Amino acid sequence: MDELKDKALKYHSLNNKPGKIEVVSTKPCMTADELSLAYTPGVAKPVLEIADQEENAYLYTSKGNLVAVVSNGTAILGLGDKGALASKPVMEGKGVLFKRFADVDVFDIELDTKDPAKIIEVVKMMEPTFGGINLEDIKAPECFEIEDALVELCDIPVFHDDQHGTAIISTAGLLNAAEIAGKKMEDLKIVVNGAGAAGIRCTEMFIAAGVKSENVIMCDSIGVIYKGRKERMTGLKSNFARETDARTLADAVKGADAFIGLSVPDCLTADMLLSMNHDPIVFAMSNPNPEISPELAHATRDDVIMATGRSDYPNQINNVLGFPFIFRGALDVRARKITEGMKMAAAISLANLAKEPVPQSVKNAYKGKDLVFGREYLVPTPFDHRVIEWESLAVAKAACDEGVAKKPISDWEHYRAELNR
Ligand code: NAP
Ligand code: MG
Repeated sequence: MDELKDKALKYHSLNNKPGKIEVVSTKPCMTADELSLAYTPGVAKPVLEIADQEENAYLYTSKGNLVAVVSNGTAILGLGDKGALASKPVMEGKGVLFKRFADVDVFDIELDTKDPAKIIEVVKMMEPTFGGINLEDIKAPECFEIEDALVELCDIPVFHDDQHGTAIISTAGLLNAAEIAGKKMEDLKIVVNGAGAAGIRCTEMFIAAGVKSENVIMCDSIGVIYKGRKERMTGLKSNFARETDARTLADAVKGADAFIGLSVPDCLTADMLLSMNHDPIVFAMSNPNPEISPELAHATRDDVIMATGRSDYPNQINNVLGFPFIFRGALDVRARKITEGMKMAAAISLANLAKEPVPQSVKNAYKGKDLVFGREYLVPTPFDHRVIEWESLAVAKAACDEGVAKKPISDWEHYRAELNR
């Protein structure tokens, strides 16, 4: 662990440049002439064009490719509430990934408040600067209120990645895991362990993807969320309260086809796994330590289909497969919001891409590992260069189909080529 600490701290201060991002000018400013264009008096011209017609901001400023990654640091990774300032490395990191994978520019914005009303007000005020807003690492239940309000108030996409990013990649994984298990989505009996930001949205998306809501049992820190339970309930949890005699996780997983862990480490025991149906799907996504270790799961059952949030095991359910590409597609058509249809299009595109033969260039990034659709390869890998074409295109298309695109695309082959540039 100390070795990782050394390496990570060095990385963050490399080249005498603390941090991971900088601002780069995209226009020349080397002569008096260029100076008078970049700033006054020339700059007054685009000002007037934009004052006259707001959409001109997309022609003369960086708004259209700029996303705000906004956090207050109340739910940083698996570390909890470490405050706004301490969240900055994560938000800068998010900026690195947006740029690396989808050429989206990011300003990271860390807000020193826990008051949802203040966050809503500040972010709404920042809308002119950005083409989209990625909310990040804001704890539940405040994250629900903040996102709902901002989606309503803003005319640009607002997306809380910890909720929807996780839901999209998990849904892609679940669609493929069900296929490999030879089970239909509508027949799956699922236990979702964890009823927070990720657990709630994953469940909603599984249901949208065909899972029957009566076939889902959700658990939280005190056990099964059943009809009539009074302790630790919220409005969103109530939506998933079931008529059931099950009270504990052990009761709930008996005979279940899938366990979706978005909770805490080591809460799924070998006995519980043994009590599940054949070819049990186990997505143990608690980070960094899963609800059951892959070693224990595989030692317990040969037929388990296993995914985690980690990069050192097969089937990483990693949000980086989502947010850069979803925003790329949304920004390219100037989507007003990221709709349920766009999220589902993203999930389905990932599920479908996993079934395509993997080019050698991608395998090389994974030390020549043979990536073939199956139990050990449910979703594409983050360094698969085809993800941008498949996912951003699917998201942009869905935005156009759903009527939220302010700049719809008509020449899809041209767009595909642009994405591949
Ligand atoms: P969150 O909003 O804080 O929710 C955590 C949920 O876990 C709460 O509902 C909590 O119950 C429940 N919980 C706590 N102890 C539990 C236990 N012993 N058994 C069952 N449930 C328990 O957090 P989140 O953002 O949803 O994230 C949850 C976990 O998923 C974290 O470990 C996070 O790292 C991981 N995650 C992974 C990915 C990924 O791999 N792609 C993405 C997102 C999240 P109460 O409601 O009773 O407090
Ligand atoms: Mg996060």
